[in-house]
Amino acid sequence: MSARILVVDDIPANVKLLEARLSAEYFDVVTASNGKQALEIALRAECDIVLLDVMMPDMDGFEVCRRLKSDPATHFIPVVMVTALDSPADRVRGLEAGADDFLTKPVSDVVLIARVRSLTRLKMMTDELRMRAITSHEIGIQSPEREAVTDQGKGGRILLVDDRPASYERLAAMLTEEHSVDVEPNPAEALFHAADGNYDLLIVSLGLENYDGLRLCSQARSLERTRHVPILAIADADNSSRLLRGLEIGVNDYLLRPVDKNELLARVRTQVRKRRYTDHLRDNVQNSIEAAITDALTGLHNRRYMESHLVTLAEQAGVRGKPLALMVLDIDYFKSINDSYGHDAGDDVLREFAVRIRKSIRGIDLACRFGGEEFVIVMPETDMHVAGVVAERLRKSIAGEPFTIEKGAKRIDVTISIGIATLDRKGEPIAAVLKRADQALYRAKRDGRNRVVLDAA
Ligand code: GH3
Ligand code: MG
Ligand code: MG
Repeated sequence: MSARILVVDDIPANVKLLEARLSAEYFDVVTASNGKQALEIALRAECDIVLLDVMMPDMDGFEVCRRLKSDPATHFIPVVMVTALDSPADRVRGLEAGADDFLTKPVSDVVLIARVRSLTRLKMMTDELRMRAITSHEIGIQSPEREAVTDQGKGGRILLVDDRPASYERLAAMLTEEHSVDVEPNPAEALFHAADGNYDLLIVSLGLENYDGLRLCSQARSLERTRHVPILAIADADNSSRLLRGLEIGVNDYLLRPVDKNELLARVRTQVRKRRYTDHLRDNVQNSIEAAITDALTGLHNRRYMESHLVTLAEQAGVRGKPLALMVLDIDYFKSINDSYGHDAGDDVLREFAVRIRKSIRGIDLACRFGGEEFVIVMPETDMHVAGVVAERLRKSIAGEPFTIEKGAKRIDVTISIGIATLDRKGEPIAAVLKRADQALYRAKRDGRNRVVLDAA
């Protein structure tokens, strides 16, 4: 999928130049000649990345950038400032306006394309996460954009990998003003350190004495624990080819020596902010996945999850030639608990019941609320005899200890009935086993409740 780049510049010749270069690399290009137009295009979500001229009449690039970054609707669009200004102070101003990067006119083709490519990758990943997170927002989980626009990017946890004391001492002193910094002077240890440390940012010196810093960056990118941690590379000015290589393998940003303190801090804040934002998005996605498979009242798995997972568990049991037991549990006379003490008391009983189920089963067992006051427990590698023992223990743990309701004010007796069946007929669909367990449960009810019945088949 090709990214759409918005080129903003008040001078038509500049627009044409960038447009031609980007089109040659198969990017789609949209253009704007002033800030107002640019904001409108971005707001209509018609671009993936913005290349923004700084000096424009009416609204300058800094202001356009600030507005894009402070609006939750456009905050996540990467902005690259393109400017003839090239003092660290100018760069800091841009970064403080929220710019993701800074390119200096005349813009080198290679750098332009490398930056646009790496920001495109990042944008695609964030878009994917945002799309999924929108779903979680719809089911009531808080939107991370709100926090992201106010995040100052301070207080980050940083790992600095640099083996030259004069260099890391200076860098660490600058960074500790706003962040907490760990220094790793041994590059061979850095990857482990990074994987263990839950950092917001890795800063890697590419001028390591006896180690290839780029190699470290690429390893950090491929390791599960570190692949989402942004990397800021620090390189000597004469080392631009290695920097480009770094951007290709996923380095997020770079600085040239001698390092300007304000620029370092500004770039670090940008990366820390981004890291927190994507972390949030990722958490949201994780939460929405969990919400989709969990029963809200009891915290057990829900029926939807169990039905799909049960098929997998049954297949596994078949392939490995292991037994599988299914237990269906139903609270006795639950309706009368509701009728006598109210629906909330009924809910208390359901919650406490789930707690006791959890205590009685192993980690590999799958417990789910099948609906209402009916529960199912799937027990891999368990035969009828063992399942019977577990069920009896569970029955006793319910009947033997009254349930507290009304915030501890009352205690009531609760009993359950359980039916068990095992998967042991070759080729029998798992749904049929569940049905046999349900029939056994029915017999337990009919025979007087508060008992366990094993399916005879
Ligand atoms: P039996 O011993 O035959 O199982 O009788 P029972 O009363 O437990 O069974 P029945 O199916 O007649 O009633 C189940 C009741 O469970 C009816 C329903 O209102 C109640 N129920 C279902 N879901 C919930 C819930 O989430 N919270 C509460 N408090 N009650 C629920
Ligand atoms: Mg201009
Ligand atoms: Mg019941």
